[in-house]
Amino acid sequence: MPVENLEFKTEINQLLNLMIHSLYSHKEIFLRELLSNASDAIDKARYESLVNSEAITDTGDWSIKIIADKDSNTLTISDNGIGMTKEEIIAELGTIAHSGTLDFMRALKEKGDMNLIGQFGVGFYSSFMVADKVTVITKSVKAATAVKWESEAKGTFTVEDAERASHGTDVILHIKDDDKKYLNHWEISTVVKKYSDYIEYPIVMDVEREEDSALDKGTKVKLTKEETLNSQKAIWLKDKSEITDEQYNEFYKHVSHDFTDPLSVIHFKAEGTSEFTALIYIPSHVPMDIFYEQFKIGPVLYVKRVQIMDHCEELVPKYLRFIKGVVDSSDLPLNVSREILQNNPHVSVINKNITKKVLDTLSDMKQKDFEKYKKFYEELGKVLKEGVHFDFQRREAIADLLLFRSTKTGKEAYTTLKEYVETMREGQEEIYYITGSSYDEVSQSPHLESFNEQGYEVLFMLDEVDDIIFGYFEYKGKRMKSVIKGSVDLDKKDDKKKEEEGHKYEKLLAQITSRLKDDVKEVRLSGRLKQSPCCLVSDEGAIDPAMERMLRSMGKDVPKNMRTLEINPSHPLIEAMSTAIEIEKGEGAEALIDLLYEQALVLDGNKPKDPAAFAKRITELMLESLRR
Ligand code: ADP
Ligand code: MG
Repeated sequence: MPVENLEFKTEINQLLNLMIHSLYSHKEIFLRELLSNASDAIDKARYESLVNSEAITDTGDWSIKIIADKDSNTLTISDNGIGMTKEEIIAELGTIAHSGTLDFMRALKEKGDMNLIGQFGVGFYSSFMVADKVTVITKSVKAATAVKWESEAKGTFTVEDAERASHGTDVILHIKDDDKKYLNHWEISTVVKKYSDYIEYPIVMDVEREEDSALDKGTKVKLTKEETLNSQKAIWLKDKSEITDEQYNEFYKHVSHDFTDPLSVIHFKAEGTSEFTALIYIPSHVPMDIFYEQFKIGPVLYVKRVQIMDHCEELVPKYLRFIKGVVDSSDLPLNVSREILQNNPHVSVINKNITKKVLDTLSDMKQKDFEKYKKFYEELGKVLKEGVHFDFQRREAIADLLLFRSTKTGKEAYTTLKEYVETMREGQEEIYYITGSSYDEVSQSPHLESFNEQGYEVLFMLDEVDDIIFGYFEYKGKRMKSVIKGSVDLDKKDDKKKEEEGHKYEKLLAQITSRLKDDVKEVRLSGRLKQSPCCLVSDEGAIDPAMERMLRSMGKDVPKNMRTLEINPSHPLIEAMSTAIEIEKGEGAEALIDLLYEQALVLDGNKPKDPAAFAKRITELMLESLRR
């Protein structure tokens, strides 16, 4: 096969340019990334050898070798893992669009820290921070021949046939002049201990030593010895008392590819019907891709110290998908498939145990260290709260972990459902909430006017999913009610008063109804407004406007949700409009009605129906008032 010359995908090229000219801190993490890839590749090969012994016969001696050659200025990281086929290497190291590439470059610009790279699935490219040329020779367990990949990161890479005795990969870095220290044994060994000590496979390196000669006293001889650089300890199997906080944190970074310390460590061993050890972590910040479909859920699954799966989603409920760590089971078979996992009683015991431990840990944190809990909640609360909707058994326990801002907390403090219920007004049967996209937006909403005036607290729900989660939720027997839906009658006006008002505004209501017949479902007098002239409300069971906006922005086809326009019978504008209609027989009323409606739309966080016309009308009004 001739040499093929291929081009890098555009964004990878941009990334490579950053790498070549890199002056970033943490350059040494290139080694961590390459060792992590080697270890992943061996995990895959080892697993393959267990379930499909024909594919791999030379088992048992899994290891990663580091070879530093000061004559040729090359550093080679060599593994006997799964290898790559030609198609795989072209895609993985050059042409497929990694969604992480752009995200990583953005994060790099913001934080200036190369250390983040592992999180974004582009770790391999960090080799170009220390190398001006990289050669990869790899042979897949699936292929008969090996392949050589090479690049100087100048827009292109080459691939051609090559020789390799057995499956595995050699990554050969041609070290830049300024980075020769990475050819020193001491430097390499320090970096390995710092970042890769927990890698399960021995990372070995030949070291030259001078020793006293045994034959000839007084003379020195040079000996080459193989040294294992990492301790390879399965930290989760050790006793808690033997592990320092620092070691826990380092291991977290290793399994999670996160660069900050975790918020909490949960390490426990279960015995009885199911035997397993779990070392799991609650991160201190929300992973960027947690709301994407491709987000990988669940801890690493080991069976008797053999890694089976790098993310086992059956081990945690989805609303705890931020949990990272490892689970090592003694009961599962080595060749577990997804089907087995889905119906396995041991798996569901593990899942239950982990769920309970995590929720207990959070509840404890909330009581004993509220500042820390707040930090957790502000990052991950919106994931956790999905549990209220999905975990029927524990919904109230999860609801007790939620924090809310409300009409009474102000912008900085929080309340809880428990506190809300304890301080409810006498006779109040429902828990009121309002949805919207920010504190500032909802706290000014006209929908709150009569609630505020009468001292009813209203919770602020600021995540798009909130209405779905809380719309049908009952907490301690109290139904949750959205104040922007259905009708509200806090004043409990008597029938006589209502009838009078109805009569007074009959004509105005009719006129507005006829003008807005294509835009709103109904026009009625409001029981919720105090200071504002009008607002829009949804039906009791209708989709929440915040949710509707989100679905639309995702390009989903959402049927038009006709809303009700409420007008405030005690507002001077409404009274004046009503009088004007009586006198002028409706002339000029249409423009005012349109403006009223557009105003309601804007207050609701929407655009006016016809922004140009809206602006024009306002200009006219302004001119009129100036001329007066
Ligand atoms: P990530 O490891 O997060 O996927 P990398 O940029 O580090 O991102 O590696 C990209 C891909 O290249 C890996 O997912 C893997 O498929 C392949 N790869 C890299 N190094 C090796 C290796 N030593 N053996 C086999 N495959 C490898
Ligand atoms: Mg990697």
